[in-house]
Amino acid sequence: MTAPETAVVVVGAGRSVRFGADKLQLRLAGRPLFEHALAAAREPLGAVPCALVVRPEDVQELTAKMRNDDVIVVAGGARRQDSVRNGVEALSLGDDVVVVIHDAARPFVARADIAAVVEAAAECGAAILVAPIVDTVKRVSGEGMVETTVPRDRLVRALTPQAFRVGTLRRAWAVAGETDWTDEAALVEAVGEPVATVPGDPRNIKVTTPEDLGAVAAAVGGQVRIGQGYDVHRLEAGRSLWLCGVEIPSPVGLVGHSDADVALHAVTDAVLGACGDGDIGEHFPPSEEQWSGAASEVFVRRAVESAAQRGFVVANCDVTLLLEAPRIGPHRDAMRRRMAELLGVNASCVNVKATTGEGLGFVGRGEGAAALAVVTLVPGRQLPVGSP
Ligand code: MG
Repeated sequence: MTAPETAVVVVGAGRSVRFGADKLQLRLAGRPLFEHALAAAREPLGAVPCALVVRPEDVQELTAKMRNDDVIVVAGGARRQDSVRNGVEALSLGDDVVVVIHDAARPFVARADIAAVVEAAAECGAAILVAPIVDTVKRVSGEGMVETTVPRDRLVRALTPQAFRVGTLRRAWAVAGETDWTDEAALVEAVGEPVATVPGDPRNIKVTTPEDLGAVAAAVGGQVRIGQGYDVHRLEAGRSLWLCGVEIPSPVGLVGHSDADVALHAVTDAVLGACGDGDIGEHFPPSEEQWSGAASEVFVRRAVESAAQRGFVVANCDVTLLLEAPRIGPHRDAMRRRMAELLGVNASCVNVKATTGEGLGFVGRGEGAAALAVVTLVPGRQLPVGSP
C-alpha cells in the first residue's frame, strides 16, 4: 500500500482545570509544552497540513507566534470533541486523508508510534495508540467498598495520537450528531465502525497536574540550570536586620523598599536567573506600593514557583554574606532551615557563609551589606514547599 496522505490536528483548547494554570503557557526545556507535542506529532510525517486548536482568546497571539511554522491556529469549541472537529474541518481535507489527532499536553510520542497508528488507520479507518494497565483494577461501590477485581488482560489505556480517515470521522459526526464522547475513537465505536489498537510507548504521558510536568521534565533529563544573584543594601541605625529570612538582633539594619533582606534578594535573582526569567526588579518593582515593607520570602517563593512552572526544582543554594557586623555564626542554622523551607529542599542543600570587608570599602566601613547567591535547578517533580 502506498503511504497515505496525512494531516495533524493538535488540541489544546481545554481549561486546564486539574492543573490550576494555563497549560498552554507551561514550558518544558525552554519551549512551550504544546510545541513539543506539535513537533512530536508532526516531525515523523514531514510537511503535512497542520492545525493547532486553542481557546478562542488565544488565537490571535498564537497565530502571530506560529506564522513561520506553517500551522493554522483554530479556535476551539465548548467541548474537546467540538475543538477536534473545528481543527479537522479548518484544514479542508479530502475523505481519504488520514488525520492524526494529538493532545497538546502530551509532549512525548515515539516516531515509530506515529507511523504505526497512521498505517493502522489507513487500513482500518480508525486506530488508536494504547498502553497496558499495570496496576490491579477494582470496581468499587458508591461507598468506596471493593465490589470486584476487574480482569485487566483485555483492558488498555487509550493514548493519543489517534488517527482516522477523515471520511470515517465525517460519517461518524453525521450519525452521532450532538452526543457527547470522550475521544474520537469512542465516537467511531458508537456508530459501529471498527477501531484498531496499536501498542504505544507508555512513556507518552499526558500532563494533567503540576506533578506530571515535573515527571515529564525529569524524563527530558540531564539538564542543570545555574543562576547567580548579587545585591547590596545600606545599613542604618534603628532598622530591623533581616538576613536569609531570619531577623537578627542588631543596632543597625538594612534599608530598602521591602524588608531589605539582601540575601533573599540575591537568592531570588539567582533562581530567576537560572530560569531565564529576568530579575527581581522586573517582577517586584520598587515603584509598586504592594512591595513596600514586604517580607522578602514572598519574592523567593514566587521565583521558585516560576521555576516549577518550567518543570524545574531547586537542587542547592550557596549564599555568601558580606558584612562587618553582627556575627552570623550563631544564626547560621536558623538561616539554612528558613531558606531550605522557602526553596523546597533539605537544609543540607543550603549553605550560608559570611565574610567581613577587612575594614575596606563600604562593607568594611559598616555602611552597607552585600550578598552573593548561586542556585542550581534540576528537572523535578516536587512542588515548592510552604507556598501559600
Ligand atoms: Mg535588594
